[in-house]
Amino acid sequence: MPTRYVLIGSGLAGGLLAAYLGRRGYDVDLYERRADPREGNIVGGRSINLALSTRGIHALEQLGIADEVLRHAIPMRGRMIHDKSGDLHFAPYDRDPKNYINSIGRAALNTTVIEAAQRYPNVRVHFNHRCTDVDLGSATAHLLNTEADSNGSSRVAGVLATPKLGEAGPPAIAKHQVIKARADAVIGVDGAFSAVRQSMQKQLAEFEYDESYLPHGYKELTIPPAPDGGWQMEKEALHIWPRKSFMMIALPNPDGSFTCTLFWEFEGPRSFASTKTDDEVCDFFQQEFPDAVPLMATLLEDFRQNPTGSLVTIRCAPWYYKDKVALVGDAAHAVVPFYGQGMNAAFEDCVVLDECLAEFPDNRERAFAEYFVRRKENADALADLAVDNFIEMRDKTASKIFRAKKKLDHFLEGLLPGVYLPLYAMVTFTRIPYAQAARRARIQDWVVYTSLAAISAILILLTFWFVAR
Ligand code: FAD
Repeated sequence: MPTRYVLIGSGLAGGLLAAYLGRRGYDVDLYERRADPREGNIVGGRSINLALSTRGIHALEQLGIADEVLRHAIPMRGRMIHDKSGDLHFAPYDRDPKNYINSIGRAALNTTVIEAAQRYPNVRVHFNHRCTDVDLGSATAHLLNTEADSNGSSRVAGVLATPKLGEAGPPAIAKHQVIKARADAVIGVDGAFSAVRQSMQKQLAEFEYDESYLPHGYKELTIPPAPDGGWQMEKEALHIWPRKSFMMIALPNPDGSFTCTLFWEFEGPRSFASTKTDDEVCDFFQQEFPDAVPLMATLLEDFRQNPTGSLVTIRCAPWYYKDKVALVGDAAHAVVPFYGQGMNAAFEDCVVLDECLAEFPDNRERAFAEYFVRRKENADALADLAVDNFIEMRDKTASKIFRAKKKLDHFLEGLLPGVYLPLYAMVTFTRIPYAQAARRARIQDWVVYTSLAAISAILILLTFWFVAR
């Protein structure tokens, strides 16, 4: 009998992991609380588009679906900085023009990975099933069928409707009953607010958990296509409006639009909380993003209607329980989005877990333990890098010193090929483990700054010497 896995969550990593496990011949049941995204449902609450880079592409390549995904991607070759006067500065991401990041639609990518999983007859996907709890000892997931009622309204999961007098008993009740899905192992791929992880917290005394929220939230806004269907700004760039304590960014979409994301303080004199009326929203945008306002035809509706999301970093340990349960992707390590690596890291988890299962085919607990050891340090390093990059994006990208440092980085990379690699390039365009990249960058910076200080000191001494002669 093949090993049976129950996966919870068919988001980006869930679909991909199901495909990896399906390819190994395992029996896989993937449960997702939402409806099938192919039925026009919004994947929900997260960014509309994402930056896909080397690690994520590698994970897709292993399954032969990278070309399918990249066919619809828009290359973003560098940062386009918008200053308050409307002046633009373009800074390429890498000295090699072949290195760029890709803007891709979340919904399309989600569909692609789910379909990749469904190509394996041993993988079954069940939408409208919300996991409420996992019994770790028996690897049993408790699920509620949350399918919309026949009249189209969706019931609150878990609440069994009591029929009113005179009404027929609800045949839909069966849909809302708790289902117990027992497997050899349950894998939580259910995102930052993972129910599987919550079960581990409840049932394991030694489980470590830490969550920290930024004081900033985010809101998505839109720049629609130009009347001719084209893009209203440079298409092949990630646009940034850095404003020191906050920023707006915009990524291109294939339909000619851009999705903008405003990252702004929740509270304070100028914040989401204090900006309520249309006039206040208009004033804020006119003051801070004057060049974007004429392009944002639906600014006020977007601002009013779109939710304000929070930005959380989650660290926990261990990511597994015996050979019964494991966590993958945001469920194990949610990071803030400023390095554009959350999904890429989640995809890399799938590759590493797959490798570990191949290395220890007869010892799943060892495979889970190895996967945790190989990934934990890197996920922690990425969490720190992502927070640091917020400061870089919202504040430093506007400065001339930052642009000079990027030029120096590219110069040194050309001068010392294979020896010097800028941190951004290591994280985004290689598969060097995140922790190793962070350590190497610290050493490189120390060597470069110490050398620059030494050269400056020598030049000053030589100047004095010539003057004194
Ligand atoms: P998710 O994609 O969140 O999927 C979890 C799935 O589990 C969902 O489908 C959910 O419905 C389901 N689920 C949840 N609970 C249950 C339950 N109880 N029962 C059943 N199903 C459940 N990353 C990048 O690499 N590049 C970027 O440019 C980027 N930009 C981002 C921008 C923003 C604003 C944000 C918030 C994140 C961004 N990320 C980016 C991060 C990226 O979105 C996540 O890292 C990625 O989605 C993680 O994938 P996942 O499958 O682990 O979780």
